[in-house]
Amino acid sequence: MRYSAKAGTSETMSDLRELYQQVILDHHKRPRNFRHPADATSEVEGYNPLCGDRVTVFVKMAGDRIEDLAFQGSGCAISTASASMMTERLKGKSRAEARALFDDFHRLVTSDTQVPPENESLGKLAVFSGVREFPLRIKCATLAWHALRSALEGDHQVVSTEEE
Ligand code: ZN
Repeated sequence: MRYSAKAGTSETMSDLRELYQQVILDHHKRPRNFRHPADATSEVEGYNPLCGDRVTVFVKMAGDRIEDLAFQGSGCAISTASASMMTERLKGKSRAEARALFDDFHRLVTSDTQVPPENESLGKLAVFSGVREFPLRIKCATLAWHALRSALEGDHQVVSTEEE
């Protein structure tokens, strides 16, 4: 499905789409936490062959808390913005909080059930609900999240979206 030019498109939908584009482009142009911390306790590389996105997520744990979270790599606007917003959002959180947000985010981008944009746990991340319309983009949006989950679980060091 492409952008609909139907006259019935509501104001709210176009406002949301504009917000979605602005936030994503901003994070793509100026990614937050885009660096390689020398004291990272684990790092996982994620690769999305469908789009060519590569992202390496660096985590520094202090006990059960994510003390530092950063990423590097190259990819499309959606994969970069998603990684950027994820690092901003999860720095300082516990493993359990990160896992819960992973689940909420995954549901947001894959589920047909409407998640209200004002969903409190997701905050600004709700802009990614727009990728639901573009199935190939879902893997772009979730790439960094899968890498982070693997880093927290410490099970493997390279993840590919094809393993889902
Ligand atoms: Zn992509």
